[in-house]
Amino acid sequence: MKIYMNGKLVPKEQAVVSVFDHGLLYGDGVFEGIRVYGGKVFLLDQHIKRLYEGARAIRLKIPVSDQEMTLAVEETVAANDIQDGYVRLVITRGAGSLGLDIQRTSNPQVIIIADTISLYPAELYEQGLKLITASTIRNHPQALSPQVKSLNYLNNILAKIEGTDADCLEALMMNHKGEVAECTGDNIFIVKNGILKTPSTDAGILEGITRNAVMMLAKQAGLEVKEVTLTRNDIYVADECFLTGSAAEVIAAVSLDGRQIGDGKPGPITKDLKKRFEKLTRGES
Ligand code: PMP
Repeated sequence: MKIYMNGKLVPKEQAVVSVFDHGLLYGDGVFEGIRVYGGKVFLLDQHIKRLYEGARAIRLKIPVSDQEMTLAVEETVAANDIQDGYVRLVITRGAGSLGLDIQRTSNPQVIIIADTISLYPAELYEQGLKLITASTIRNHPQALSPQVKSLNYLNNILAKIEGTDADCLEALMMNHKGEVAECTGDNIFIVKNGILKTPSTDAGILEGITRNAVMMLAKQAGLEVKEVTLTRNDIYVADECFLTGSAAEVIAAVSLDGRQIGDGKPGPITKDLKKRFEKLTRGES
């Protein structure tokens, strides 16, 4: 496996960062998770845009232009001969001293890993996921914008642990107001009376690229799509529920906190949107 590091493709053993890197010491950096379908990097422009906006928000200057980054991603995918896989793009603040001062850091690290991925077992795409509500809430949006995909995912990791402890591969995270935000690594949607609903970005969520693609597909399919405040109860009594994410794609959620959602199986609208999304990944729509 070849890893892109700061302009070069190197064997994975040589792809190392300093123990003084603020990415490691403080989670100081940004990242993206991107899919590759049929050798093509899916919605790359949108991921690059989010990466650069996140870096800007945390005052991290990425040492290469967005065009160069796009080419570097494509080059890394080709060098590893990835047809269907996953790209992890990581930018760290670079090595500094054992203090917070970013003035003392130098050389932000640009790392691109192209690999394969299978987030959830294949049968769960047929059966749907079980969810619990985590007690760990999503980061307060006024502390750190949820639009920044920062290298510090500790809240989400703690929520994910609560999920796996309860035998659930995803967990629902509420925001600081007690409203539904999203899952630990996925956005959430419900279907109620034929209307597709998802929390708006005001709920303190990451504006997922898969979320936006699915909303567009739903509108094209003639569905009414609403970005609204959702409570946990809205999910309990939803007709259907599903999650979206680059790694997860579209996957049904069939229970929350032990309460069955709808008839406990992936619903017809979920299945239809999943199919439409798959077509989009194959470049057919
Ligand atoms: N929410 C969170 C917290 C995430 O980390 C992710 C990405 N894994 C998503 C939502 C989904 O975003 P996207 O569709 O852009 O991958």
